[in-house]
Formats: sequence, C-alpha cells, structure tokens
Amino acid sequence: MKLLVTGGAGFIGSHFVKRLLDAEDVEQVTVLDALTYAGNKANLGEAFLSPKLDFVPGDICDRDLVDTLVARHTAVVHFAAESHVDRSFTTAGMFVTTNVVGTQTLADAAMRHGVERFVHVSTDEVYGPLVNGEATEDYPLRPTVPYAASKAASDLVALSYWHTYGAPVCVTRSSNNYGPCQHPEKIIPLFVTRLLRGEKVTLHDCGQHVRNWLHVADNCAGIELVLRQGVPGEVYNLGGGTDMTNKELTGELLRICGADWDQVTYIPDRLSNDIRYAMSWGKIAALGYRPAHDFQAGLEETAAWYSANTDRWAPLSRRLLPVMPAARSASQ
Ligand code: NAD
Repeated sequence: MKLLVTGGAGFIGSHFVKRLLDAEDVEQVTVLDALTYAGNKANLGEAFLSPKLDFVPGDICDRDLVDTLVARHTAVVHFAAESHVDRSFTTAGMFVTTNVVGTQTLADAAMRHGVERFVHVSTDEVYGPLVNGEATEDYPLRPTVPYAASKAASDLVALSYWHTYGAPVCVTRSSNNYGPCQHPEKIIPLFVTRLLRGEKVTLHDCGQHVRNWLHVADNCAGIELVLRQGVPGEVYNLGGGTDMTNKELTGELLRICGADWDQVTYIPDRLSNDIRYAMSWGKIAALGYRPAHDFQAGLEETAAWYSANTDRWAPLSRRLLPVMPAARSASQ
C-alpha cells in the first residue's frame, strides 16, 4: 500500500501515520499538510526516522499538487480540516473552503487516478444534537454549527464520488477524541494545561452537555479497519468511548490535576452548543472493531503527557481565542 495521508501533522492524523508506518504491507506514507496553526511536524516526532515517510507541505485545495501526489499512491486517508467549532463561528468561509472544496479536490483526483481506497474522516457532530437514542449511519444529517455543516457537506461530496464515478470512498464518523498531541484549544488539553498552570477553567452553562470520549488510538484502529475492510460507499460510525457530561469530565480532570472546584467558573452557554451526541457502532463492530482503551487510564496518560511536554503547548496556549460569545436568548 502507498498511502497519502492529509492532515498528518495534526492530532489524529499524526497518530494514524505513526501506526501505519509499522504495518509491513505499507510501503510508503506521504503526509500532505498545510501546517496551519493546528499542524505541527513535532507531532510526527520519530516517524521522520522512517524511510517510508515523506512530508509534503501544501494545501489540499491546490489542484495541481493534489493531482501529482494522488497519482503516486494507492490509497488516500483524508484527515485535513479546519476542526475547531469555536473558530467556525468567526471564519466559516475558511471551513467551507478547506473542508468542502479541499475534500472535493482530493476526491476528484482519487477518481481520476483510480486509487484503490479513499477514506474520508468525519465526525458524529454531523448528526446534530440527540436528546435521546443513538444515530445510526443512515440517521439524518442535522448539523447546527458551521464546522459540523462543513463536515456534513464534505461527507456528502465524498460519497457522491462513489455514487457518480464509483470512486471507492468510505466515510468514518467518530466521537470526540482525546490523547497526547491535541492542540490546547480543545477542551481536555485546554483544561489540563490551565489547571497545570494553576489557572481557572470555564464551564458553559451548568456543564450538562454530553459527549462521548474515544481514545485517539481506538479511532485510528477503526480508521485502519475501514481502510482495509470497509465496503466502498459505506459510512462507519466509530463510537464506543465513554459518555459523560462536561461537568463530569471536569471533575475527572480536577482530580487528576490535583485541583478543586474553586478553579471552575460557570459562564453562559456558547452559540449552538449541542446538548448531546450519541451514535451506535454495530456496523464497524461487525468488522471486529472494539475500543481497547480504559477512559480513566487514558485520561491520566494524556494529562501526564501535557505535564511532561510543556514546550509543545505553552507557546500555542498564548495564542488561543478568547471565550466564545453567549448563545442567543430564545426571544432573539
Ligand atoms: P487538527 O486540527 O488537529 O489537525 C488538522 C490538520 O489539518 C492540521 O495538521 C492542519 O495543518 C491540516 N490542515 C488544515 N487545513 C489544511 C489544508 N487546507 N491543507 C492541508 N492541510 C490542512 O484536527 P484533528 O482533531 O486531528 O482532526 C482530524 C480530522 O478528524 C478532521 O477531519 C476532523 O473533522 C475529524 N474529527 C476530529 C475529532 C476530534 O475529536 N478531534 C472527532 C471526530 C472527527
């Protein structure tokens, strides 16, 4: 297999690249990454010692570059995206360009060069909020924020290349990932890094929003399974993490970081903060997928990584966005 991995200098993509470099049947892994504020070659670390790894800085919207690279590979695994919901409130156009046009550019090249597999990596946020029950893969897409809407659009664009041209596209939708090397703008590293510095953390509303937390290594195992065994044209939910409210998550992080509730401030809810995401994952389980990571142990390992790698996140933390505006009231 010769793999082109987009967004391989980001959080999940870098874990995936390191995993696949160890596979005997993988001859080559090329990372295409624009190294935006979210990308960091240091995430790939010792992977650069592998003769199988090639790193190409560049944009997934660059048609000529994408065309040249896709032509040299047998499979594409597409992680590159604008991924932070809060940023999508102020720069939605950038999300549509990267997430939708970038995906279309890649799918177009994949179709023209006849790659054997195109895995498009997506999110449970495309289903929108679920008060009860779980979303199956054919559940309606009801994204509520520009990030999720751009991902939903990109899923449909990618799948259209299967329906129209027979390009072997699979889509994965995972729940929230956690683990080492995540940008400190996301809730777990944001809270851990603030608590480690003795600073306060802020919880939206009463912290009642429910998220499913999946270790990044479990997501990468599921994506590899889809790469190897997924049926073209199919979507696979990658769930099976731990469900909890943001308040419960905060309690765990306070315990791990040796802090207490005095370090928590409650603020009004942000724009369109979906109350709960939930997915069923029986379809990928039928291929043998089982999340292997214990949540408590994984969270402790993650906090320990941030504690030991201050140089990796401290410069980034200084450039984080301010807290997002409160949600509109019901009368607006
Ligand atoms: P990330 O923000 O950590 O990494 C994104 C990477 O894409 C960065 O390295 C960045 O430099 C690169 N990139 C951005 N724009 C680019 C462009 N135009 N051209 C080339 N590279 C570009 O994101 P992540 O958390 O690793 O997420 C990876 C994928 O997984 C995304 O598609 C995201 O929607 C999806 N996802 C993430 C989560 C999560 O919890 N983090 C959950 C479900 C799905």
